[in-house]
Amino acid sequence: MQTEKGASLVQIKALNRRQLRRAIYRQGPVARNRLARELGVSLPTVTTSVAAMLEEGLLTETPDEAAPGSLGGRPAMLVDFRPEAGFAVGVELGPYGTHACLTDLRGTVRCQTQGPPPPADYNQMLADTARLLEPLCAAAPEGRLLGVGIGLPGFVESGRGVLRTGLQESWTGRPLADDLAQALGRPVWADNNVRMRALWRDMLSGEPAPATFAYLFVSKGIACPLMIHNDLLAGARATAGEIGHTILQPGGPVCPGCGRRGCLEALAGEAALTARAAGLLAAGKAPALAARLAGRASDMADLLAVRDEEPAVATLLDEAVDALGLAAANLFNFIGPDLLAADGRIFTPAVHRERFLQVLRANLFGLSAQEAPVEFMPDAPLTGALGAAAHVIRHTLLA
Ligand SMILES: [Zn+2]
Repeated sequence: MQTEKGASLVQIKALNRRQLRRAIYRQGPVARNRLARELGVSLPTVTTSVAAMLEEGLLTETPDEAAPGSLGGRPAMLVDFRPEAGFAVGVELGPYGTHACLTDLRGTVRCQTQGPPPPADYNQMLADTARLLEPLCAAAPEGRLLGVGIGLPGFVESGRGVLRTGLQESWTGRPLADDLAQALGRPVWADNNVRMRALWRDMLSGEPAPATFAYLFVSKGIACPLMIHNDLLAGARATAGEIGHTILQPGGPVCPGCGRRGCLEALAGEAALTARAAGLLAAGKAPALAARLAGRASDMADLLAVRDEEPAVATLLDEAVDALGLAAANLFNFIGPDLLAADGRIFTPAVHRERFLQVLRANLFGLSAQEAPVEFMPDAPLTGALGAAAHVIRHTLLA
């Protein structure tokens, strides 16, 4: 009995510690009494824990300028994480390239690097990634690197960092996190890159995030992880957030990802769109695109570039945007998140954004436009890498 009781006390302490750290990270600079009130613990409990973290150098104090001055007393102090108390390296392996950075706890990038898309051979990919990341790890102040995060498309068992399906068939079943940890001699966390992008929005985007939001990312594939009460919904089998293979048009075009017909990815994923553009080219229906490509294969940037002068391509893109708007409406109707963050090159033209919002709003059930807010994410190369770094911060300092 004694042991059981002791264990549960330890668990409660660990839980309190995590909640306190997360609250300071989310709200800092913040007053101790506000933390105590919100977490439902006593002020002395908060004060003791905060004192320990100040001692460790994790936190910093600033005077509360907004607080009413107390007569002759010390000004009330606010506590926050010291940005340079810890650093994380993040890397995103994507179909179009590899981006990596070293950041402090608040997302200030200290250095960054980039490389080509990873090679198909697993061992070569490991070696290339380790070589790219080593200088970033070395640039972190001595003893303050929390670890390395690696994000990539596909199913990643987030607890163990094992790949289920990834960029390459031959990587399946490989323990990516362990293998890269061995290559770098640093702790490594691996997860799906879009889940990590959602963490970027939550922790490092510089904007407050609601507790419950969805992060829709359109690249070669499409995913939409959900942040529920400040935690990523993982699902029992690492498949939560795979909105891309929900079917919107039975009998529609074949999906390059799942092989079935009419799923969202078949209608709006970049791999499907460039494949269908190839069909237009072969049929002679896209002369402007043909002139631009001069024989090479198209990518999303090409389709967006010729949109205004190529009616067939404009139609293709409009239909894709319509499918995304429908999927987003389904999501709001089903889950009702406080926000939908929309990320992807298809959302860069203003005409696409307007169309997307129009379709979304036309298909809402019982919600006003204000109750289905959408934010378009900037098209920034480091978003995924910063998300991978956020994942490390979350699993170390905030765990
Ligand atoms: Zn599919």
